[in-house]
Amino acid sequence: MRIIPISVPTPFYVGPVNVYLIAEDPVTLIDTGPKTKEAVEALREGLRRARFRVSDVRRIVLTHAHEDHCGLAKSVRDEAKDAEVLVHGWETGHRAARLEYDEHRKLLERAGVPAEEVEAMRKMYEGVRAYADSLADGEYREMVDEEEIEFATGSLRVIHTPGHTPGSCSFLREADRTIIAGDCVLKRITPNPILSPDPIDPSKRFHSLAEYLVSLARLRSFAPTLVHGGHGDAITDFEELFNRYLRAIRERQTDVIRLVPKTGATAWDVARELFPGADDVHKFLAVSEAVAHLDLAHSENKIAVELSGEREIYRQDKG
Ligand SMILES: [Zn+2]
Ligand SMILES: [Zn+2]
Repeated sequence: MRIIPISVPTPFYVGPVNVYLIAEDPVTLIDTGPKTKEAVEALREGLRRARFRVSDVRRIVLTHAHEDHCGLAKSVRDEAKDAEVLVHGWETGHRAARLEYDEHRKLLERAGVPAEEVEAMRKMYEGVRAYADSLADGEYREMVDEEEIEFATGSLRVIHTPGHTPGSCSFLREADRTIIAGDCVLKRITPNPILSPDPIDPSKRFHSLAEYLVSLARLRSFAPTLVHGGHGDAITDFEELFNRYLRAIRERQTDVIRLVPKTGATAWDVARELFPGADDVHKFLAVSEAVAHLDLAHSENKIAVELSGEREIYRQDKG
């Protein structure tokens, strides 16, 4: 089973996204790239180099529903005459793209994000949504953890690896312990845990960082020899990366806890201290990061939280 990476440009800060072509029956794309002219061209060119056309694609498997990964899923599906699309059921963004706005607005308000900033984030994400076509009910199938995706000469096992998003999935080829990991594992950057509603109870917040740590440990349990990430080069030394991630997360935990004053602060206050220069999309990523770390610190009893009106206030514990 040949796994062929295709680098596809994105208009986002993260740079190009890796699409993976599984070049055997049924011809499968893992992720697609965003909905831009440049991405379509790069995808066609990558397929052409491997002697395929878009119309040969029989299946599209999405690591998660961020626009840089899923944006072209619908148009590829349509051009390939109803190729099957697989996405995890927790990936709530798969129909309306990333931001289920009402749910997110409540989460942002609870995190102490001022109304005008929430409005700016809403506008920004409306712009981001333009980079993906939505899939209607019936145009995709929900894949489940441990499902085997079969090919002519082997299979890929779905490993649900929530964290970056609730429905993020990785794909394991057990024969040589190769993993395609989407944005769960990236060579040069520690993936952002993105603020999301809980897929089971959208009125609650998804505990992204705690889930992410479990997912990382689960990937490690397969002792991968090669990991293909959603961006950047493949990883041949997963153990080194795993330890580097854990160190980075622990350091960030320490910083975040230190930024919580005795008098109390919102996640937004902490985010502004943590990333003073953040603007545009980075404000949203900053507040996502702060919330994820505050949730983890709170779940480990390192800080206290109470509700003041609609906002959560974090405090240093007296003890
Ligand atoms: Zn992503
Ligand atoms: Zn990505």
